[in-house]
Amino acid sequence: MKKVISFPNLGDYYVPIKNFLIKTSKCEVMVPLKSTKHTLELGNKYSPDFVCLPFKYTLGNFIESLDNGANVLVQAGGGCRYGYYAEVQEKILRDLGYKFDYINLTNKGGFSLFKFYKGIKKLNPKLNIFKFSYWLLVAVVNIIYMDKLDKYIRKNISYEKSKGIFMKIKEKFLKNVDNNYSIFKLRKLYKQSITEIKNNLKNSKDETLKIGIVGELFSLMEHSSSYNIEEFLLSKNIEVRRYTDLTCLLITKRFQMKKFHKKSRKFAKYLQGADATPNISHSIDMANEHFDGIIHMKPMSCSPEINAVPILQKVSEEYDIPILFLTFDSQYAKGAIDTRIEAFIDMLQMRKENLINEG
Ligand code: SF4
Repeated sequence: MKKVISFPNLGDYYVPIKNFLIKTSKCEVMVPLKSTKHTLELGNKYSPDFVCLPFKYTLGNFIESLDNGANVLVQAGGGCRYGYYAEVQEKILRDLGYKFDYINLTNKGGFSLFKFYKGIKKLNPKLNIFKFSYWLLVAVVNIIYMDKLDKYIRKNISYEKSKGIFMKIKEKFLKNVDNNYSIFKLRKLYKQSITEIKNNLKNSKDETLKIGIVGELFSLMEHSSSYNIEEFLLSKNIEVRRYTDLTCLLITKRFQMKKFHKKSRKFAKYLQGADATPNISHSIDMANEHFDGIIHMKPMSCSPEINAVPILQKVSEEYDIPILFLTFDSQYAKGAIDTRIEAFIDMLQMRKENLINEG
């Protein structure tokens, strides 16, 4: 039987994941459908009540892919409870009667590259460790360039010459990546995209706000699970700073944890789980850089970020920076979230004008 491989959504990272799987597994690769209210409803229906939202969304992704013909699933995890979700999801799907091969990349709660290699080699026995490592390297380079481009866009959005042009450039980059999958070509594409953005910058920026986004990593990177708040802010030409991305999680974070802990120690003596400690440290940085406000997002029952909330409230008081706390659960409430975001933006705008008037 033809093998069709699928994986859960994580923002635009489907691009390097898809290309990596095509090159290494030689199977047909099915990109999951974009996560929607229906995806969440599906995942919610078959998940334990207490489990956090990433579990429900990714289970919903799996069910949609299996219903559409996928018969091999890949799940990763690590860093928090997510490191144990792969096994539970497999059990739920098998109990539902689905037949599939499962590549579980977690080992004792952490990510295991060796398990990944072994899982893909089962699908493609001709694969050797050198080819696997090469395509992995290309995927990592792809992720780094995607993240750099995104950061550049978020930082310079208030200089955008015509509305929406940066997003178009980014979409073109993502589309072209498929046909240019080598380190050299990725670098060239990235440079072209940055040049195009630079050619579309105004000489002076719009007097818009600067807002930081911190919180739980899945909510920050899989935008459909957080009502596309980041896109909404960018569409209003608001400068957005978000530190959490795959480059940070896979590469840079581990080298910076000491620094984050030192900075946040005044508010939290011990290291918090997942991204809570970096989020506290980043919020202090953004307050010191006079950002207008911060949005903290988390799924309901996310213990690491629940711990971060009272600490961030103290940061907000001490550094006089407004922080909006948003918690997402399986109730789909886009209207309510949009209203809160708009009210927050209005409040920040008024506050900024008052501060300017007061001199
Ligand atoms: S960080 Fe929180 S929401 Fe995300 S997977 Fe871990 S426990 Fe769940």
